[in-house]
Amino acid sequence: MSAPERQIQLDVRELPTHWYNIIPDLPEPLPPPRDPEEGPSRVEQLPNLLIHECLGQEMSTERWIEIPGELRELYLQAGRPRPLFRALGLEQALGTPAQLYYKSEFYSPTGSHKVNTALAQAYYARREGYKRLTTETGAGQWGTALAYAASLVGLACTVYWVRAVYNWKPQRLGFMKMLGADVHASPSPRTESGRKLYDRDPNHPGSLGIAISEGLEDARSDPGAVYCLGSVLNHVLMHQTIIGLETQKQFEKIGVYPDLVISCLGGGSNFGGFALPFLGDVFTKGRKTRFIAAQSQSAPNLQGEYRYDFADHAEITPLLKMYTLGHRAEMAPIKGDGLRYHGCSPILSLLRHLGFIDTVAYPADERHVFEHALTFLRTEGFLPAPESAYSVCCAMDEALECKRTGEPKVIAFNISGHGFMDIEGYREVLGFDRETASEKEWHAVLGF
Ligand SMILES: *Cc1c(COP(=O)(O)O)cnc(C)c1O
Repeated sequence: MSAPERQIQLDVRELPTHWYNIIPDLPEPLPPPRDPEEGPSRVEQLPNLLIHECLGQEMSTERWIEIPGELRELYLQAGRPRPLFRALGLEQALGTPAQLYYKSEFYSPTGSHKVNTALAQAYYARREGYKRLTTETGAGQWGTALAYAASLVGLACTVYWVRAVYNWKPQRLGFMKMLGADVHASPSPRTESGRKLYDRDPNHPGSLGIAISEGLEDARSDPGAVYCLGSVLNHVLMHQTIIGLETQKQFEKIGVYPDLVISCLGGGSNFGGFALPFLGDVFTKGRKTRFIAAQSQSAPNLQGEYRYDFADHAEITPLLKMYTLGHRAEMAPIKGDGLRYHGCSPILSLLRHLGFIDTVAYPADERHVFEHALTFLRTEGFLPAPESAYSVCCAMDEALECKRTGEPKVIAFNISGHGFMDIEGYREVLGFDRETASEKEWHAVLGF
């Protein structure tokens, strides 16, 4: 018998040529965006808000949508296809009969999977004649990804960054500026909605909702600018299916199929990108795969209500049918800030509603999650982003469950980004004065 494959690569010629659009394969029609009872129509505003091509994709019922050749070149430039790893070191440390495989979105040039949609949106925006992209960012990964994509295709980029985070991530700010982006702490004095708050308090901590309003207002007041979104919407999840499509080809190469598919979920873009091609197999090929979305108790949106709600605090967007905690919900701060969003993407919400997606929410102090990420780092050698640590933790918990039951399940999990710029967050939760743990000590740390 040959040794198990440690790394499964794809040739550059095997980069997927199409994204997968799950909409025609959904077991029930997806509830469309809707207007609130009162106020101006948000739905009619969508064509003025989104990139034309992206709006078309948002509503498309075609199963496969071609990735333009020039964009495939950009994906290659960003290092795709990315390897799938077998976590042999981790399996050994856990003593599990399960087989663990992880997808390496941490190889992204800016640190997260968000480049997959940032490149697509920047490419289409330039094709449609725009000169500048505007957006908001919370944790900073999306702002960096869009700054990167804009620079590669030759567009300007303006980022409104929630001030509370802006102030404590000087390295990520520096990175965005090196990429040529114009970055403003939000609320800023540059927009009407920002100015109102800024004039009252120049140190206002801001919020994602306020930053979205600023990005939208900025783009609306400049015909050469367009606003971009990094998660939640159908077309964003579709761009991200490049992750799961590559992973499927990689599993095919070794003749393995996962029993369990896991990732972290904030708005749903990396979970959707990884899981939707496998969910498609459930609907079209009768596969019996189980799916788990890992969340924080600070923002367990999949345990909220399934109803129509706004995607933003300022109520500028249409209502979306989704699992939501309420668009004005207060959520305790966590280091995995990218998971702190009140709603889950409509596609994944529908699938959760129909019972195809399970969820787990970890304590908001993040100790349990980061302890597991540390074990992953020390056995596999990669430092996950704080958000991705939730995916790692969930996969490890499931592998330990397999140890109890003796089941040799195949577990696939996505690592949506690296944590090189979040070491301070890890330090605050864990401290750094830990000696390398022996196998016995891991058992003590992890409680098994
Ligand atoms: C933004 C982000 C997330 C959460 O967003 P999703 O849209 O749910 O994927 C997770 N991981 C990383 C690294 C991120 O940057």
